Amino acid sequence: MHPDVEVLRATIRVPTVAERDPALTDPAPFEQLHALLAEHFPLLHERLERVDLGEAAPRALLWRWAGTSSDRPVVLMAHQDVVPVTPDDPWTHPAFAADVVETPEGPAIWGRGTLDDKGQLVAICTAVERLLADGLTPAQDVWLSFGADEEVSGPSAPAAVDELRRRGVEPWFVLDEGGAVAGQAFPGVGAPVAVVGATEKGTTTLSLTVTGRGGHSSTPAPKGPTARLGRALWRLDQKQFPVNVPGPTIDLLRRLAGHLPLPLRALLTGATRTPPGVLGRALVAAGPETAAMVRTTMVATTLSGAPAHNVIAARARAEVNLRIMPGESVASALDHVRDAVDDQQVAVDVVEANEPSPLSPTTEPEALGAFALLERTIADVFPDAIVTPYVMMAGTDSRFFCDICPRVYRFASLRMSKEQRASIHSFDEHVHVAAWLEGVDWYVALLRSL
Ligand SMILES: [Zn+2]
Repeated sequence: MHPDVEVLRATIRVPTVAERDPALTDPAPFEQLHALLAEHFPLLHERLERVDLGEAAPRALLWRWAGTSSDRPVVLMAHQDVVPVTPDDPWTHPAFAADVVETPEGPAIWGRGTLDDKGQLVAICTAVERLLADGLTPAQDVWLSFGADEEVSGPSAPAAVDELRRRGVEPWFVLDEGGAVAGQAFPGVGAPVAVVGATEKGTTTLSLTVTGRGGHSSTPAPKGPTARLGRALWRLDQKQFPVNVPGPTIDLLRRLAGHLPLPLRALLTGATRTPPGVLGRALVAAGPETAAMVRTTMVATTLSGAPAHNVIAARARAEVNLRIMPGESVASALDHVRDAVDDQQVAVDVVEANEPSPLSPTTEPEALGAFALLERTIADVFPDAIVTPYVMMAGTDSRFFCDICPRVYRFASLRMSKEQRASIHSFDEHVHVAAWLEGVDWYVALLRSL
């Protein structure tokens, strides 16, 4: 096996699982991961400045690679931690063994973190090490920021942002996980689509609580807490958020239109010229995935009531998970929910709030065109792919960097099939060896062309 791939395999074998309560996180795997990186990337460790983030984020890694200029610094991100493996998940090969598995597309490395996100982390380090060996000094300062708690919304990324702000670093652009070179991304489009996240929805959770007297279930009164809560959830389902087609989605449709089979192409080419309202309604009608592209979504996820089947709930509670569209806010979403529920006895509270990220530009003049640079580099390394911005539905650590940088993009230079994308946070996560090496080449190309 290629020696660089062996490094990736070694890091996959280390189960760097972060816990919501940092005191419960086992530090040993993170220390092992750091030791592996030190062993395999000696030039990176020797020539880059390691910035200690202290007790705020003891396991985070932040490095500065001094460039010829510090005018337009670039931040490359990835995260060290992985989501845990559930014993019931039917992994075909063990999650932390990094087996080499023959597939119809060639050999693949199997295991948790191959796609999310050690594949990207090790690819960045491999590219930097290779360029250092070649004697390259990047044209711009390059920061590597590898958080240790992305999956649990921990303090690593905010601490790195604080440190950069303290040093007066205003990045030209930030690149984190998110998009990919996605195969079978859109029905009817044969070519892979390299999707680059230009913004991400805000993941927010609200609780709906109704309290009452409780009591014996043999003598129920009408409109008790469970019935009121049920009515509130039904009303939410009936009053969805308004449709709003954001710029990146219009851009995505425009870019894909020419690659679709003829009847669809005509429809979509027409659609991008039609008013956004009509287009939005058509996307809502086309199914839940496309509906999520054009509006804030909400769904009740947890429900609780009485502790026993013969007891009336004194308190009925539901949590509603929202993904808030760019252009809206936690406050406006809260207003919409209260308005839809329309019941004073249902308390609506914020459990977890994340605002949607601002839109990063995708059509800037060339001089500032970070997106244009990404687009060109993708076209060079993945000539068969269609490049397009999109709105990410999930959250990444890069959202914190929006505070210090207007150009935050989310793209991992890895080819992923539909099946592979579904394996993230699930089971049978794997990366093809050829795809991972191509991913390294992409970072090499990017760093050479800054
Ligand atoms: Zn991730």
